[in-house]
Amino acid sequence: MNAKSMGSIFLFLMASIIGLILYNAVRITSRQLEPQDSNFPELNNDIFKRLSQSINYKTVSNENFSVIDSSEFLAFHQFLIQSFPNVFNKLEVEVYNTFGLLLYWKGSDSKLPPIVITAHMDVVPAEDSKKWAHNPFSGHDDGTFIWGRGSLDDKGSLMAIFETINLLITDNFRPAADIYFAFGHDEEITGKYGASAIANALKKKNIKADFVLDEGMVVTQGLVPFMKNPVALIGTSEKGFMNVRLSVEADGGHASTPANENAVSLLAAAVDKLNRNPLPKRFCKPVEDFIIYLSPELPFFPKLIFANKWLFKPIILSVYEKSASGNALVRTTAAPTLLMAGVKDNVIPDKASVLYNIRLLPGDEPDDIIQHIKKTLNDDRFRIEVDHEHLQHPSPVSEINTPGFIKIHQSIKNVFPDATVCPTLMLGASDSRHYSIISENIYRFAPYIVTDESIDSIHGVNERISRKNYEQMISFYYTLIRQC
Ligand SMILES: [Zn+2]
Repeated sequence: MNAKSMGSIFLFLMASIIGLILYNAVRITSRQLEPQDSNFPELNNDIFKRLSQSINYKTVSNENFSVIDSSEFLAFHQFLIQSFPNVFNKLEVEVYNTFGLLLYWKGSDSKLPPIVITAHMDVVPAEDSKKWAHNPFSGHDDGTFIWGRGSLDDKGSLMAIFETINLLITDNFRPAADIYFAFGHDEEITGKYGASAIANALKKKNIKADFVLDEGMVVTQGLVPFMKNPVALIGTSEKGFMNVRLSVEADGGHASTPANENAVSLLAAAVDKLNRNPLPKRFCKPVEDFIIYLSPELPFFPKLIFANKWLFKPIILSVYEKSASGNALVRTTAAPTLLMAGVKDNVIPDKASVLYNIRLLPGDEPDDIIQHIKKTLNDDRFRIEVDHEHLQHPSPVSEINTPGFIKIHQSIKNVFPDATVCPTLMLGASDSRHYSIISENIYRFAPYIVTDESIDSIHGVNERISRKNYEQMISFYYTLIRQC
């Protein structure tokens, strides 16, 4: 073959590949539903007043559960009963471990599988109260925002759900399916006595829920690269959680005559080695689904890349791994958090240890991670211990072609018509994992808007929700429950 015909073949191949890339980008079709229901409730200023009041109750769940202020939780219950007498009259109420509430709304069609909608009543402490523009438990309403701990996470959702049930009762609405509304009181500290107890009770009642909606992901604004419009994320799985202690022993001695190698130097080298050899990056199912939903909505050039994952996968993965949050989406991460060694300034410690907080991607098993650590270190002197008590496997991945996902997607589009809806992987942990014993379809979404500016206010300083967004939250639950 001469050079000329080789050149022609090369040109032909290139043109074919470019053609295929363009074809793939044009061919992908949008997964977004069209807004349908614009029948939103009439809302008045009382909703803001009640949200402000709900923030006044310091329903703080501390790490040490025995020190929670039970009077705040019980007063909060009374506040709910007084604010929503119709809800407490119409729905059956059960109390779990003194503070957790389960409300049951009987549907009209007993053949339909029930639905579970949840939110949590506890909040994290607000220790930096001096840094807040308004006292974190004041519920200050400046006419645009309602300020305070829990306004987003998660009293906003909880109060919006109560307002919605109240409005629907006034409308004489009755759901077709049974609906359970579950309100845990210790989400911020594992959910063991709230959501877990409620989920176990539902299991005992033989409840197999069609879907469970819990908080988790949100409507993001300006946080998804290339997307000017909001992107509403629905978590279809959450990463696992594992603490692993890595320790090593070596000769100690006096610090005036140090040997070249000691427990601290060995441990430091190991930490460095593990840092340079992270777990492999890959797309798990929820992130694959995210790309499928997002790609058609992207501007042309990023769309070219994302629509041709078969070719550009390595590029996409390396873009992801560059940012901390992107990296956490494409691999199991291992963060060294607690280092321990030494008792005195002039004594070389004979033992050093580091605690790794590991977040597992769906599909990764704890044993895979231990094997990776062992193989990377390749040194028998290191001891590896897993904290089995706090180990949480990654949650099962919920499907996206289910009636539950479609109802949530439709409700988001009804209220936020210009938002792009995408399933995704949730990086943190929520109460939702406890409900996997009663449903395969668990969706993590709360209808509040998070921007680059407000993201740190959740568990941080100056948490607040706009009045407009709070109205949208109520409209979301309203349009969702009307489909149930
Ligand atoms: Zn929360």
